[in-house]
Amino acid sequence: MTDVQANEDGRNGKHFGTNSSHRFQSEAHALSAAGEINPYSCPACKSENTQRLSTAYMSGLSHFSAVTSGFGWARAPIVGGAWTTGISQTQLSQVVAPPARRKYARGFLLLFLGPIIGGAPFAILEHLHGPSTTYELLAASVVILLEIGAVASLLRAVAYNKRVWPELFQQWRSCVMCLRCGQVFRP
Ligand SMILES: [Zn+2]
Repeated sequence: MTDVQANEDGRNGKHFGTNSSHRFQSEAHALSAAGEINPYSCPACKSENTQRLSTAYMSGLSHFSAVTSGFGWARAPIVGGAWTTGISQTQLSQVVAPPARRKYARGFLLLFLGPIIGGAPFAILEHLHGPSTTYELLAASVVILLEIGAVASLLRAVAYNKRVWPELFQQWRSCVMCLRCGQVFRP
């Protein structure tokens, strides 16, 4: 049973016997306006059993919320791929996952550890063989190269998150998935 069906049943059940079919209709209309019910029909199989990718993604994760309290989808772009790999997800939610932002952690790590990674081997060599300008020059060159690499990687990530990611994310948000045949389309 899909979540859409489950919702429908839940609402039907709630109002069953209270003779409030009118209320149910207006409620359904309000939900439809809020985008919770998709009136879009699948271009491939004409099924109206469709769901926004974002909703499908949420429902795929919903049963994890009891275990891992306090994570919402709003955190997904911030935390990025970290928890999509850390938490086992249903296949559906893996398919419909939002585009991930580039992370800065690795770039910053390299930026801060660069002087240590680059300098340490030559510090050891100097310790063993005595002070040498060659070692110092080599150490400085390696550190500079590592720092350039770190800055370049951070700038690439910033550019991606600023220009590419928002576009991908908007596309993802506007996409609808057919729950019958799996077709993803933009209404
Ligand atoms: Zn379909």
